[in-house]
Amino acid sequence: MERARDGINDARTTIIGAGWAGISAAHSLLAQGVPPNLITIFERAPHPGGRAFSFDDEKQGLTFDNGQHVLLGCCDQFADLLSQLGIRDAYRLQPLLHIPVYCDGAWGRLSSKRLAGALHLLPGLLTYAHLRPLERVRALRVAPQFLRPDVDALDGISFGDWLRQNGQTDRAIGRLWDLVGTAVLNGHADEVSAALALESFRMGVVAGWQQARLGLFTRPLGDLAAEAITKLQGLGVEIRFNTAVTELQVRESRVTGVRLRGGDVHPAETVIAAVPHDALVRMLPSGLRDDEDFARLASLTWSPILNAFVLYDRPVMGQDVFASMELGGMFVFNRASLLGLPQYEGRWLSVSISAAHTYRGLGADELAMQIRSALAAALPQARAAQVETCKLVWQPHATFLASPGSSSARANPTTSVKGLFVAGDWTNTGWPASLEGAVRSGIAAAEARLGHKLPLTS
Ligand SMILES: Cc1cc2nc3c(=O)[nH]c(=O)nc-3n(C[C@H](O)[C@H](O)[C@H](O)COP(=O)(O)OP(=O)(O)OC[C@H]3O[C@@H](n4cnc5c(N)ncnc54)[C@H](O)[C@@H]3O)c2cc1C
Repeated sequence: MERARDGINDARTTIIGAGWAGISAAHSLLAQGVPPNLITIFERAPHPGGRAFSFDDEKQGLTFDNGQHVLLGCCDQFADLLSQLGIRDAYRLQPLLHIPVYCDGAWGRLSSKRLAGALHLLPGLLTYAHLRPLERVRALRVAPQFLRPDVDALDGISFGDWLRQNGQTDRAIGRLWDLVGTAVLNGHADEVSAALALESFRMGVVAGWQQARLGLFTRPLGDLAAEAITKLQGLGVEIRFNTAVTELQVRESRVTGVRLRGGDVHPAETVIAAVPHDALVRMLPSGLRDDEDFARLASLTWSPILNAFVLYDRPVMGQDVFASMELGGMFVFNRASLLGLPQYEGRWLSVSISAAHTYRGLGADELAMQIRSALAAALPQARAAQVETCKLVWQPHATFLASPGSSSARANPTTSVKGLFVAGDWTNTGWPASLEGAVRSGIAAAEARLGHKLPLTS
């Protein structure tokens, strides 16, 4: 560990939230030499991991995630954090991007070759079966524009409008751009900012074959967060679960402590609030909610993700993952094969539907039925198989919606309140809401906190 920067050794840091932003902030502080006994994390839930958690079904003996998460090869800070915590084996990257795509009775695939830079996409796009030849050429023509997106100019328009302005048909948008973009941004092309979409495609798809590889978790998400926290605790960081912060204590524009549920006040000279944007607003003293930095957060809205975990009575799926255009676009994972559960191999699938507003009003039986027939369309073996269980997991507050113009609402780590820093996937990371964005935000908040001269007098 490096020596702590001058002036911060004796100042305590309180971190609110043990999601990946909070874990990353704590780890970054330690890595910069902050003594562990000066870091306390308060977490409302009984477990760490925030929006990436797991739960057990005692009856089935299976562990579910709140949603199947994936990574891309470009998620280097998350990978680095896992390595430093000794849990890098928690996911594996495909050697090369390879996702079979089912659409209207036919299969195509999103794929990549080991070619320099954006050229890695060329062979795959030229043969992508779900586009007509002219649509493929147009897709290729637009790809170079992803390399240098004018982020400022494009934040106000939707990705869908930008794609149409650049010669993409609605058919190509649905079968290519929206299929990938919705999974990455958790919003459909017409709902999300062109700037963030282009930047996300640049980083995760166009930049190179290494960055575009799909990362598939081989362990339940909750285990990773639990191991990360155990590691931090082992180093001496104090973590208090089931401890919600109800209010930030601020005096003369300086944070002085946090009020905990039950009324106790924990004095704090510096606080990193690594909670969702609306949770941050709720814990601000009322006088601060109209402050320019925080008032903007009211314009951020949530986008839901629906997951279904389907257990068949026999194997129905051979590959690790595929995408389907059924139900407006969904990704299907061979969960048993990823987690290494031979008894459920090919039988236990998880289905992820991002930006799933359309399905909000449907009852559980109707949803389960639609998902089963969508799976049966793509998987012949599923047609005769019996479904033993179908567990639906709704996450209405899965991620913020990166709507056009939303980048100006995303906060920087340093706030107008002295000693208060913010982290979370919704902050101004330049990334879509993701594990990678959360980890980067934690690093940025720790950096900002260490750059902040203490003690905070006058
Ligand atoms: C269904 C689903 C699928 C997803 N798929 C992917 C994916 O494939 N790839 C990907 O990269 N990302 C994915 N994400 C997004 C990813 O999970 C999030 O971006 C990331 O986990 C956010 O981390 P965070 O630390 O910023 O916030 P959170 O995980 O929300 O952590 C905030 C923490 O603060 C705690 N907290 C809140 N209020 C208080 C309080 N008052 N006092 C104390 N503690 C408090 C919460 O309990 C929580 O633990 C998905 C999310 C969902 C829900």
